[in-house]
This record gives sequence, C-alpha cells and structure tokens, in this order.
Amino acid sequence: MKACIVGGGAAGCLCAVLCARNGAEVVLLEKNEKTGKKLFITGKGRCNLTADLPPREFLEGVVRGEKFLRSAVWSFTPDDTKAFFEDMGVPLVTERGNRVFPASGKSSDITRALDRALKESGVRVELGWEVAKAEKTGGDFVLTSSDGRKETSDVLVIATGGKSYPSTGSTGDGYRFAESFGHSVVKPVPSLVQLLTKEDVSFLNGISLKNIRLTASVAGGKTFSEFGEMLFTKRGLSGPVALTLSAHLNRAGGAELSLDLKPALSPEKLDARVLRDFGERKNADLKNVTRALLPEKLNLYLLQRAGLPPEKKVNSVTAEERRRLVETLKCLKFRFAGVGPFEEAVITSGGVDLKDLTPKCGSRLVEGLYFAGEVIDADAYTGGYNLQIAFSTAAAVAADIMSAKSPAR
Ligand SMILES: Cc1cc2nc3c(=O)[nH]c(=O)nc-3n(C[C@H](O)[C@H](O)[C@H](O)COP(=O)(O)OP(=O)(O)OC[C@H]3O[C@@H](n4cnc5c(N)ncnc54)[C@H](O)[C@@H]3O)c2cc1C
Repeated sequence: MKACIVGGGAAGCLCAVLCARNGAEVVLLEKNEKTGKKLFITGKGRCNLTADLPPREFLEGVVRGEKFLRSAVWSFTPDDTKAFFEDMGVPLVTERGNRVFPASGKSSDITRALDRALKESGVRVELGWEVAKAEKTGGDFVLTSSDGRKETSDVLVIATGGKSYPSTGSTGDGYRFAESFGHSVVKPVPSLVQLLTKEDVSFLNGISLKNIRLTASVAGGKTFSEFGEMLFTKRGLSGPVALTLSAHLNRAGGAELSLDLKPALSPEKLDARVLRDFGERKNADLKNVTRALLPEKLNLYLLQRAGLPPEKKVNSVTAEERRRLVETLKCLKFRFAGVGPFEEAVITSGGVDLKDLTPKCGSRLVEGLYFAGEVIDADAYTGGYNLQIAFSTAAAVAADIMSAKSPAR
C-alpha cells in the first residue's frame, strides 16, 4: 500500500507518520522548502497545539462541522495529541483557557518533533514538490508537480490547508484538486480575523481594552455577543472578542456592532457614577472628567460620537446630554464593513463539503481519496481547537487507510 500525502502541515505530517508507523509506504509532498511553515508561526510562535478538554467540551469550541468531527475527535482526542508529542520528548504545559503549549514556549519543538517522527517512521519527504495536478487513472492516483515530475499511489490524502496566510504555502490548491475529483467546495471565507468598520477608527489604532462586551446584530435577527479583550486597528476591531465574532460574521450580509465599554455597570449605575464625578468637579471641562472612564483618545472619540463638546463645563451639561453620554458608553455603535482579508485570517472557514465525506474523511465519490485538516469545511474558535481538528482528522484518515476493511462508504 502506497500513500501520497499532499501538504506538510500539521495534518499532513501527522497523517504521514501514523500511516508509516503502521507499515504503509508513504510519500509526503510539500511545496515549501520545509515542513510546518504555518505551524511555526502558530500561537505567536509558541504553538497552542490543542485545548486540554474532554472531547464533548472540546466540540463546543467548534463553529462549523461539529457533528461531522465527533467521530474523529472522540477517536483522536486532545489527550492523544498531548501523548503523541510527549512521547516524542516534548514537555507540554497547559495555560489559562485550557491552552496547551510546549513548555519551552517554542513552536520549533513541535515542528522538530514532527520532522523527527517523519524520519524515524521512514516517510519519504519531498520538499519543493508543488502538486499542480491530481488525477486518478485506472486504479492509481497520479500527481504531477509544477515542474513536470510524477508520483503515483494507491491512496491520496489532500492536506493542503486553507487560504489564510498564503505566504506559508496554504493557497487553496486543495479546493481545486477536490473539485477536479467531483467534490463541491463550500465558499472559503476568512475567519478569526479583524472586523472592518465603516466608521474611520484609524485615530484609535493600537488602543486595547479589557473587560468590554462586543455585540453583533446580524441582518435577519441573530445576535452574537462576546466579553473580554479588544483592540482597535487602523481599519476596525480586533483582539479576542472581535476574532471570535468574525467566525459568525464572515458570511453575514450586514451587521451592526455595539461596544459596551462598561458592561459591569447597568445604565442606572453608570449614570450615578457619572453624576458623582460631575458633582466632584463642577467647573472642570467635560473631557477631563470622562478621562477617568476611558483611554485618552477613546475619550475624545466617544464625546464626539455622543455629540458633546469636550471643552464644555461639566456644570452646564444637561440631563439629556448626560443621558447621551451614558448611552454611548454602554452602546458605541459601529457599522460592520466585512471581515479582514485571508492574508490576516488565522483560519479559513468553508472548504471541501462534508456531505461527500465519510466520518473518517474519506471521499464518498472516489475510492482511496481522503482530505484532512483545514481544507475541509470545519473550523473552530482560537485556543488550540483548529490544530486539534487538523490532528484528529489526520488520525482518522490514517486509521481508515490502515484498517484492513475497505472504508465504509
Ligand atoms: C498566525 C496563525 C496563528 C495560528 N495559531 C494557532 C494556534 O496557536 N492554535 C491552533 O490550534 N491553530 C492556530 N492557527 C491555525 C492552524 O495553524 C491551522 O488551522 C492548521 O495549521 C491547519 O493545518 P493543515 O495541516 O490543515 O494546513 P497547513 O498548516 O496550512 O498546511 C498545509 C500545507 O500544504 C502545503 N501545500 C499547499 N498546497 C500544496 C501543493 N499544491 N503542493 C504541495 N504542498 C502544498 C502548504 O505549503 C502547507 O505546508 C493559526 C494560524 C495562523 C495563520
């Protein structure tokens, strides 16, 4: 049995190792000059390789494909991922939010462990091998590289990733291969990426906020809300809450974003606090009193959005103006102008349609064809979930390839 695996990322590398350890002849084709280019930059260079959770709780972090992924995640769990790397000699630590990292804080521990596992299990790794065409002729898969080389196999695994961060090699080639085999592809869109706003927020670029609530009301009535940290960028909103919301807004036609800068206080309590501050500094400029509530630039922006002159003396602020101030602090609105581009997106949402895949990620259309990792239409929030999806689907594919029985179709 010879397996060709296209893509030396998280999914392709693990799949190759598991097949080779079980006796298959495996060729891993990677277009870059090294494997794991994207893995290396994950988790800000620290690689958050999984979420330390039992499968049931893990699956709650999945945005698309939860039902489909159940079998793969229960068969190769976050504990299995940890055990794989610990067995390869990489000590791990679990941090806040169940995030698992190499104890060294270096993603290179993970990429090196995979490279070592590939070597030890006897996988033939071909670097600089860009698959340009994949086809099945007779019983064999035939792969042709962009410079005319050929490779044939009994089984083909497409683990080419999505379209995000294309500089790492994930340029969406797998979607083209899938379509050439008759598979449909759910439109890929950027996910875990900044939210662009129609309002110009460039003035606020770099301001980061803690303990805020960002709510998105999507055209059609659905509402999504996240509490935590947020960051203003030149073109919109980023940071954990914005990235999480992007997973729900990346297919939305339109949406309104509402930022609650003081979620711990009800409008009444916030009004009482403002009234108290005003009472203590009656002759001060409004901006100098509200400064205590917000970072400098945001303070000025907020007053402008509330239609309040920053230099107005506090003792001349009317009750209606104070109401506007409180309302803007609780509900600073932004018009959603779409999500950021693939170049900045942590993952791609969409991909090979799950309806034509078995739970082991085998094609229902072409015998011996498999898909693993981000190329399929499954994705999750940040926190190690997406790498675990890559590992679980890779292991499911390897198990199916190596099972004596022919895959259930
Ligand atoms: C900045 C950033 C940080 C991230 N941090 C985390 C994190 O901490 N935790 C987490 O869980 N997830 C994280 N992710 C997401 C995670 O990296 C991906 O979900 C995961 O790498 C997907 O693995 P994959 O093997 O499916 O695809 P990839 O890792 O994208 O690998 C695909 C491989 O296929 C190769 N390839 C593509 N086309 C061809 C072709 N035609 N021929 C040959 N080779 C080809 C590519 O060069 C690439 O090496 C992060 C993503 C980014 C961009």
